[in-house]
Amino acid sequence: MPTLSFKDRGAAVLAAHARHIGARRIIQDSSGNAGAAVAAYAARAGIPCEIYVPSKTSRRKIAQIASYGADVKTVDGTREDTAAAALEAASRGDAFYASHVYNPLFFQGTKTYLYEIYEGFGGRLPEVLFVPVGNGTLLLGVFYGLKDLAALGLIGGFPRVVAVQAQGCAPIYAAWAGGAETVAPVVNQGTKAEGIAIAAPMRGAQILAALREMRAEVVLAPEAGIAPARKALAARGFFVEPTAAATYAAFLEWESKSTAAGHSAPGTLVLPLCGAGLKDA
Ligand SMILES: *Cc1c(COP(=O)(O)O)cnc(C)c1O
Repeated sequence: MPTLSFKDRGAAVLAAHARHIGARRIIQDSSGNAGAAVAAYAARAGIPCEIYVPSKTSRRKIAQIASYGADVKTVDGTREDTAAAALEAASRGDAFYASHVYNPLFFQGTKTYLYEIYEGFGGRLPEVLFVPVGNGTLLLGVFYGLKDLAALGLIGGFPRVVAVQAQGCAPIYAAWAGGAETVAPVVNQGTKAEGIAIAAPMRGAQILAALREMRAEVVLAPEAGIAPARKALAARGFFVEPTAAATYAAFLEWESKSTAAGHSAPGTLVLPLCGAGLKDA
């Protein structure tokens, strides 16, 4: 992942498509990592690019986006205000809106995450997959990837999927726990996991439908567990940003609950470490 997050998978497909259709300018909005990925691949495609980010985004993420030559627009306000500003700019001009949230081609890239796991395990899948969820681009990639493998007859069934939201901003968890079919927006109570802090996920209903079809579980990453989980990962040689540590924090709680309930540990389980530690400042 050249820009140090999984967003490269989707951004590569979006930038290739933008070049294919002759786009002369790209607009995107992000809490940081998708912006960096789109800026990098836009640069490779030779297309000028504007990236909208909330002004509270980690300074290093903003510096990374700017380093690829993108024009960084910081927006005072929420992540949703940032998306609105980008949409407005995209609807005014002739730019290609390379949103990882709106543009479905992004999932064609994130699907490769699932394919790679399948290949890495020698043509099968682990018993359990943990997947962080904010806007659901990795989760939906996993879902469509699973459906592809099933349609090709390469897997007999789906693995257990455990979706992770941050305790401080968990609209999908709330909707899932309440058995709802749509996601009501929440107020972000503050979370260390900025990469999954999506208070009003645009694809909420689609994410819930995918979770139902996969018979997934949805769990919370305890805020107080994120910093210790980050340290624990570093002690094992993995330096990750807090959002990535949130998935591990959720796993540790899930594991201790499942041990306490007398369940045996799964034989194989994959946790994605979605963003590198140098991103955070
Ligand atoms: C984007 C991102 C996520 C979550 O992806 P969504 O598409 O918002 O669900 C998780 N971790 C990191 C580090 C990210 O950059």
